Amino acid sequence: MMNDQIEIIPLGGLGEFGMNSMAIRQGDDIIVIDAGLMFPRDDMLGVDLVVPDFAYLLENEEKVRAVILTHGHEDHIGALPYLLKDVRVPVYGTPLTLGLARGRLEENGLLGDVELRAVAPRDTLDFGSIHVEILSMTHSIADSIGLAVTTPVGTIIHTGDFKLDQSPPNRNLTDYGRLSFFGEQGVLALFSDSTNSERPGFTPSENHVRRHIEQVFYSSPNKIVVACFASSIHRIQIILELAQQFSRRVVPVGRRMKENIAIASDLGYLNIPAGVLAEISECQNIPDDELVILSTGTQGEPMAALTRLAFGKHKDLAVQEGDSVIISARVIPGNEGRVSRLINHFCRRGARVFDESHWMMHVSGHASQEELKLMLNLTRPRFFVPIHGEYRQLYAHALLARDVGIPKDRIILAETGDILIFNADSFRIEGKAPVGRRLIDEGGVAELDEVVIRDRQHLSEEGVVLAVVAINKATGRIEGSPELVSRGHVQEGEGAAFLTEAREIVLKTIEECTNEEREDSLVLSEAIRSGLKRYFRKRTGTRPMIVPVIFEI
Ligand SMILES: [Zn+2]
Ligand SMILES: [Zn+2]
Repeated sequence: MMNDQIEIIPLGGLGEFGMNSMAIRQGDDIIVIDAGLMFPRDDMLGVDLVVPDFAYLLENEEKVRAVILTHGHEDHIGALPYLLKDVRVPVYGTPLTLGLARGRLEENGLLGDVELRAVAPRDTLDFGSIHVEILSMTHSIADSIGLAVTTPVGTIIHTGDFKLDQSPPNRNLTDYGRLSFFGEQGVLALFSDSTNSERPGFTPSENHVRRHIEQVFYSSPNKIVVACFASSIHRIQIILELAQQFSRRVVPVGRRMKENIAIASDLGYLNIPAGVLAEISECQNIPDDELVILSTGTQGEPMAALTRLAFGKHKDLAVQEGDSVIISARVIPGNEGRVSRLINHFCRRGARVFDESHWMMHVSGHASQEELKLMLNLTRPRFFVPIHGEYRQLYAHALLARDVGIPKDRIILAETGDILIFNADSFRIEGKAPVGRRLIDEGGVAELDEVVIRDRQHLSEEGVVLAVVAINKATGRIEGSPELVSRGHVQEGEGAAFLTEAREIVLKTIEECTNEEREDSLVLSEAIRSGLKRYFRKRTGTRPMIVPVIFEI
């Protein structure tokens, strides 16, 4: 390729929500910005996570110099282990981002083999002809950055995820000075976060949410359950401080939540007031009006602690009449139904639920329209490429760019895989890079080294087992006997015996579910799937794809 051009390939995150990753190539040097995952939709049965296909990087392996992470959210770091398995390169990020990424690498047995290099705002890095400057940005997690990538052809600004928070909890502001400096010098192209491009006005500061959560603390006579993302370190800080203010103790539940609290406090990003944290085993000795449960599971994930609490199935904790449940996160598009069901179940237990929609229990971490326009005006790019969003968000962002005077022919509505080629004063899309999605089935923690990719190969080697169950919606009872069908799994003779046993497992699993769980086909599917998964692994040592099919009659 010619040296007077920059090639930019979005590997994920354009025209889809999550899975953010982008390659920038100049001559023989490639850097990668972010390697995020996408959480599977309800209809992706049996899939734990979705990551980009990094075939383009694999094809150009010897040119890839670095991965730079903009911040520690899953949709930016979650696919890192899968990228590094394909292409082993150094990883750059701020300390909190690397701290969170380290956990992911450890789970995948990669920690010892990967070079993690910490950076700070205004640091500069050189990768052949690519020069990178780190820009401080405000977002819903501390230590977020954007990048100014300068090559002989021009400067590209990549915002990462951002909002323009004027009073972030840690006082680290967006680097307005550098952004306008680059704007003065001339920016070839701006790649900017589109998540909230349809939202008018300004996004409130992270501090704003504190006042609203404080109201719930004031008015709660009983236990308080707070659910947020494990990576929402700012939010966790607010909860810890409120707990101290109201003389309550905080019990974190969920592995990721506990891990992230430890990482963030070790690195100095979380200030844990003395005596506030408690273990789950101490709960019995803490009066309900002095207790805060801090949990993940805001998206109604079937196996999360919050879902178990909602269904009254948590082994150590119960939500009762008079408790308050705060859901302090946005509902990711596609999960609305699941979260709404979760709220219904909490209400059934007599809890009061406070969520984003009416109670301001959450503020977005992403810039609204006026902030997006300010970003465009500060950087004054020649070309503009909206990123991080489905097509409708990218399109809304494009309209904003037209509002601030960027000509239509310099606004590029690209999608994942498009090869964008920039010269000093022109632009074109030239073909498609090999991109796509990989669906990952994580399995148990113990066997993470044999992560199974659920593709044709998996199907041909391990086969598929369908468990067809009919549930009577009125009684919650199973109708008839579950039907098990397998293809390509185990041989005829003994296979039949296994299937008979597997049918018993399905019956037993359903029996152990409460009526509430039986009524929720997603929760029931997940229970059947994990029961069968465990059975086949133990009994036959195989990992067939398990697809529960539930009819409600
Ligand atoms: Zn983010
Ligand atoms: Zn993001």
